[in-house]
Amino acid sequence: MNLLAKLPEKERKIIDIILNSCDEYKGKIYIVGGVVRDLLMNKDVKDIDFLIEGNAIDFAKKANLNIKSQHEPFCTVKVEILDQEIDIASTRIETYQYMGALPTVTQTGVNINEDLKRRDYTINSIAYNVYSNKIFDPFLGAKDIQNGILKILHKNSFLDDPTRILRGLDFKHRFNFKFDKETYFLIQKCINNFNNEHLSIDRIYLTLNKIFSFSYSSKILEDILDDEIYKIWLNKTELKKTEIKKLDEAKTIFGVEEQNKLYICALESFFYIKPKFNNNYEIYEFFKKFNNIQLALYYFKTQDKNAVKYLEFKDTKPLINGHDLKALGFKQGEFIGRILKSILKEKVLNTNVFQTKDDEIEYVLKNYSPE
Ligand code: ATP
Ligand code: MG
Repeated sequence: MNLLAKLPEKERKIIDIILNSCDEYKGKIYIVGGVVRDLLMNKDVKDIDFLIEGNAIDFAKKANLNIKSQHEPFCTVKVEILDQEIDIASTRIETYQYMGALPTVTQTGVNINEDLKRRDYTINSIAYNVYSNKIFDPFLGAKDIQNGILKILHKNSFLDDPTRILRGLDFKHRFNFKFDKETYFLIQKCINNFNNEHLSIDRIYLTLNKIFSFSYSSKILEDILDDEIYKIWLNKTELKKTEIKKLDEAKTIFGVEEQNKLYICALESFFYIKPKFNNNYEIYEFFKKFNNIQLALYYFKTQDKNAVKYLEFKDTKPLINGHDLKALGFKQGEFIGRILKSILKEKVLNTNVFQTKDDEIEYVLKNYSPE
């Protein structure tokens, strides 16, 4: 199978340059992780991670590539090719001395299958040799991609690095995948047994920062709250006094009862940004998926009064329902849904527009006719 054919032309050119720049390493060059996963799923590729079965810094030098930076302990190198920054890593073995601490690299230049063992999910543990066009998939990740399954490689994986749980939530919602049973059990076990004394909180922040930039971030936040994933970083971070005051204010306005959850999540609320709204209906549409904790956090972070305004029309509903519309001769479900939505929109835009059911019926008959 030639996976590379699915890449855009520029990326193919970059791979050609890397492949043909040093004979010594020709058969030792792989692409790995997310890029292979995305190619197998026929998705657009975001960034390409290269992996050298050997020493990436030595490779970049011998290949005469334009080196931008290098990191000796991990034996990784950043190069620039066709105006693009490219990361090239060396195959390596990592061990974790403490739960959630940063890993220690114990060996570099190892066999490709050894390197794949340090990764998170089976779907991310696939390598592709760009010279032989061969796939290396020791954990059968391609099968899990087909079945939409998120499976961890070994039972200590989350204890080693709990950011993998957050990464898993990203893939769950991004691809509509499910955790396999054992993996989900290990997530619960990690949440309940995690000792965060040596946890690298920066790594947690970095991962949260990434996943909360996605459009589906509120779903991820819901999972974090529902499964109490935030327990992992509990007490590792502190709120400032002024922040607590603002948070308490938000807590009261939005009627939040779960104070602890609110405080914990507040630390991650930096991802909320304040959009521009043109009218009340835009405000309604934006906030309707927020629960009260999310509203409080949003307000805490942005101090945007539109969140408070939303409370005025949050429970707005048409007085008439589908049955009433059917009685008027409207049949099709989707059309009925559209009519009800337009009544709702009118009411959100102007709270006094309809006083009674009859007013709404009059509006419907004036603007729509039964098919
Ligand atoms: P995305 O599409 O968001 O870039 P990705 O899987 O490519 O997803 P990256 O952060 O780019 O995520 O990481 C590249 C690869 O490195 C992953 O596919 C995985 O193999 C490995 N990796 C990244 N983070 C971890 C981690 N915390 N633990 C183990 N392996 C990881
Ligand atoms: Mg990636």
